[in-house]
Amino acid sequence: MSMFQDIPVDVGVIYEGERIRRKDMHVELGGPDIKEKFELARVKKPEEVEDGKITIIGPDIKDMEEGKSYPFGILIEVAGAKLEPELEGVIERRIHAYCNYIEGFMHLNQRYDIWLRLSKKSFQKGLNSFQYIGKVLHRLFKSELPIIEKMQITFITDPEKVKELYPQALQIYEARDARARGLKDEEVDKFYGCILCQSFAPTHCCVITPQRYSNCGAISWFDARASANIDPKGPIFEIEKGELLEPVKGEYSGVNEAVKKRTLGEITRVWLYTAFGYPHTSCGCFEAVAFYIPEVDGFGIVHRGYKDVAVNGLAFSTLADSTAGGRQVDGFHGISIEYMRSPKFLQADGGYKRVVWMPKEVKERVKNFIPAELVDKIATEEDAKTIDELKAFLKARGHPVVERWKEEAVAVPEAVPAEAEAKEEAAPAMAPVVTAATLPITAGGYKIILKDAKIYAKRVVIKAVKSEKSEKK
Ligand code: SF4
Repeated sequence: MSMFQDIPVDVGVIYEGERIRRKDMHVELGGPDIKEKFELARVKKPEEVEDGKITIIGPDIKDMEEGKSYPFGILIEVAGAKLEPELEGVIERRIHAYCNYIEGFMHLNQRYDIWLRLSKKSFQKGLNSFQYIGKVLHRLFKSELPIIEKMQITFITDPEKVKELYPQALQIYEARDARARGLKDEEVDKFYGCILCQSFAPTHCCVITPQRYSNCGAISWFDARASANIDPKGPIFEIEKGELLEPVKGEYSGVNEAVKKRTLGEITRVWLYTAFGYPHTSCGCFEAVAFYIPEVDGFGIVHRGYKDVAVNGLAFSTLADSTAGGRQVDGFHGISIEYMRSPKFLQADGGYKRVVWMPKEVKERVKNFIPAELVDKIATEEDAKTIDELKAFLKARGHPVVERWKEEAVAVPEAVPAEAEAKEEAAPAMAPVVTAATLPITAGGYKIILKDAKIYAKRVVIKAVKSEKSEKK
């Protein structure tokens, strides 16, 4: 008999990756319109946890108004003889996967940034209470992680209660992250991989090292180690580092092998500390995007919660679309905020010497980790809203990228003729119009994948494609 007979909708891995559009949603919990939201797992003493207890503080789903967004918190308290506080981050991250197993229930992001939607269809089928969601979570957690002996779940929708608990949750995340700081990549033998996000981005594999925090910002190297120990066949696994092939970019033979295996050959190389060449793949739940700004030869950073457009005129969602999907895209790099606190942060690209712009909110969060002499040289939305304003700011403040502009200006007259001569012989006046590490082409029922492709064309013609309907008219 199925363990979900008493749940009004289906439950299974097939629902992972299911997206619920606004027009199809019954209610939204957390998300971009709601400031305070969180999910939190805590390890407690056995006497503090009543196994299977589900508590709802505030309106239940059936009492919510259709089409509205609500403040939301999920608190999961667990007990077990072998449970350590180190596992809290890992248990918490599984909320994402298990919620997504529920038909018509979508969970995105993590920690203070969660975004859930319930579909109209599932609501109509009877999924009208957090009691059902709690039952599913309780059963899945206990069957997949038997180390959990007791578990109680609290759903909080009362805005006042969410507001009260939200700062406490932020403090707990910060304490967890701080615990993982200080250890260096060179000091450990093993890294860890995570493929939890492959349901959304099939070629994505996070490589979690002490100094390169997971993209979602929810799993540190310590969390990953704890997870791989208790659930070695789970989505988080050990990676033997192997040989260090390139220390500045951060290329390890063991990482290349593991990622190749876990992405079924799609991704063959990873450079951990750069946004160019073979950057770490980006799934979809990264906390921020580092985006290259060619006009100033520097990087901007924009986080998920930033409502305005970034300095290059693009919104987070547009930049995220160019970044996500398990791809390696030159100059578009999904990152966590914690990685911005690492000495290895974009090390091969110049680190903070190359960062030129970020929202004030992010700058405040990472300020103590930016070299002191650079803090005032990195612009925020208050200093620059356009590329021209940014250029002026960087010049006035003497940002190190300005030196790069001079170097390039000097280098061009020497470099151009030599390069042009070589090109004249090989391929007259042609630069690649498409370059990609992996370029899939679908035609005639076949999928052809070009690896490390550079496509040259004499002429590129861009035409609007008319739909069949309009052609027939
Ligand atoms: S972002 Fe990375 S570490 Fe976080 S859940 Fe996804 S795959 Fe795992």
